Amino acid sequence: MELLKERICHSGRVIGKDILKVDSFLNHQMDVQLFQEIGKEFKRRFAEEKITKILTIEASGIGVACITAQYFNNAPVVFAKKLIARNLDAEVYESKVYSFTKATNYIIRVDKKYLNAKDTVLIIDDFLANGNAVLGLLDISRQAGANIAGVGIVIEKSFQDGREVVLKENVKLESLARVKSLKDGKITFVD
Ligand code: 5GP
Repeated sequence: MELLKERICHSGRVIGKDILKVDSFLNHQMDVQLFQEIGKEFKRRFAEEKITKILTIEASGIGVACITAQYFNNAPVVFAKKLIARNLDAEVYESKVYSFTKATNYIIRVDKKYLNAKDTVLIIDDFLANGNAVLGLLDISRQAGANIAGVGIVIEKSFQDGREVVLKENVKLESLARVKSLKDGKITFVD
């Protein structure tokens, strides 16, 4: 998606060897107009499936998932929670996820009320690095017995293992920008 790649080049900052900071339009301040274009592009790429739920993970997947939902007949957005909330019912699907950015494990949870075997799920997230967050969301979708339409990623870091890890799960993967390298602070894309 050219518009997204241009924005990454213009506003993205490279931290160290492998972190791309896009706080000005994706992860902190959110550019809703760009999110609308992202939502339309996901719709184009997953047009053939009748999506009933969009599944993401808190916090940075939520904004883009909500805007994307508007292009899928306002399908409800369910986000996996990272913290145990006192108001989260006991009946939950759980999965353990290793965080790439925080270098630690955490548990994600989804209330069983909001995902079931009648659902066709589109998983959306902001970044794909080593694929752990997506694996956790796939695990939860499978526990629910849901049909998995695929995985939509805004920015894939193609120099990490995520793409391979997700494709091994036999699901469709669509990444709107595929970053080939962040070497020497320079952002390049897979053609
Ligand atoms: P994974 O589970 O694929 O290893 O990592 C994906 C998660 O880590 C995403 O949900 C995202 O929040 C975070 N993440 C991984 N790499 C980056 C990065 O380069 N920049 C930012 N902003 N977040 C990242």
